[in-house]
Amino acid sequence: MLKNAILVICDGLADRPLRALNGLTPLESARTPNLNRLAKRGITGIVDTIGVGIRPGSDTSHLALLGYDPEIYYTGRGVFEAAALGMELKRGDVALRANLATVDENMIIEDRRAGRIESSEPFVRELNGITIDGVHFMVASGLGHRAAIVMRGKGLSSNLSNNDPHILGVRPHFVRALDKSKEAEFTAGALNKFLERAHAALSKNPLNKERVKVGKPPANYLLCRGAAILKGFPDFEEMFGLKAACVSAVGLYKGVALAIGMDLVSVPGATGRPDTDIEAKFRAAIEALQEYDFVFVHIKAADNLAEDGNFREKRHFIERIDRAARMLLNLKETLVVVTADHTTCSELKMHTGDPVPIMIVGEGVRADKVKRFGERACALGGIGRIKGLDVMKEILNLMGRAEIYGA
Ligand code: ZN
Repeated sequence: MLKNAILVICDGLADRPLRALNGLTPLESARTPNLNRLAKRGITGIVDTIGVGIRPGSDTSHLALLGYDPEIYYTGRGVFEAAALGMELKRGDVALRANLATVDENMIIEDRRAGRIESSEPFVRELNGITIDGVHFMVASGLGHRAAIVMRGKGLSSNLSNNDPHILGVRPHFVRALDKSKEAEFTAGALNKFLERAHAALSKNPLNKERVKVGKPPANYLLCRGAAILKGFPDFEEMFGLKAACVSAVGLYKGVALAIGMDLVSVPGATGRPDTDIEAKFRAAIEALQEYDFVFVHIKAADNLAEDGNFREKRHFIERIDRAARMLLNLKETLVVVTADHTTCSELKMHTGDPVPIMIVGEGVRADKVKRFGERACALGGIGRIKGLDVMKEILNLMGRAEIYGA
């Protein structure tokens, strides 16, 4: 009897055949004895995480794989980034990603990252809690120059343009309403006032006076983008009856997990980079299975390596995932699911719409004849070709937790 499930999503794992790898993908050309052993025991297939030929973002594809239709729930990545910074969002809040930047006395952008300051925290602290036109502003600091802004109030809209022109030597744009609704007009107006006030406050910040004195660019302006409104996600446990936890080192995925009510398990040594401790992540996930019915493990680096065109390092990282996957071989009461959120093509250095491989291993699974975990091997498997939203349905069914349709 299956007690619980572990879902491992390897970001950007899938790829296209590469000439430099003799027409194989990095996954196909990697030595992956443990993943292959799992594939041999399980049922395999391929997944269009959003739909056929659609190039998925990481946030939308994760929502779909976790059973949340992005068509209904996705409004932009701002809410996930803010949630990941520890901001407690409420339904109707509008969240934006922000950079601390440098403008000169004529408001011309000199540096979009304020000389890559080490932490935005001492700068944004005083901007937290400002109220303008009845809208309450909260600001949280992220890594380096990054921050997130959350607006809370009645009648807000996230249909806003960015103020970041993405180039130097020009003024920041005004935030504009992207539709004719009074909500969008109102939200843009309040945000523009806030940005002006933030600029005035930041310019007076003693830390910036210090920076100017030693010839460093002051962190005196907020460039923001990606406005998103929190629609309110049904709780994962309510939707699926599974108490769930997430193991991830990266803000966006932690944000997705938090937004759907998963608990976070933090793992020392998990970095989200190629040097991450994959064994430690699996160990923590397996431990969490004592307490949770469902553990989602996110492994990031294959995606970044492919986006850098570094297919050899991607292959090497996949081999590291494989070595750690040895720990998944002896989970008797656990349904083990391994897949990816999208294909990241090392040659094009971007996400593409090709389907990704999936394997599901556990008691009661109708194992197929596939003996390798790879893009083309899994295309021959018993699951066939499914959509991202089907994955949770398949998991619930195999766990014996699906509700009957009809009598
Ligand atoms: Zn991704």
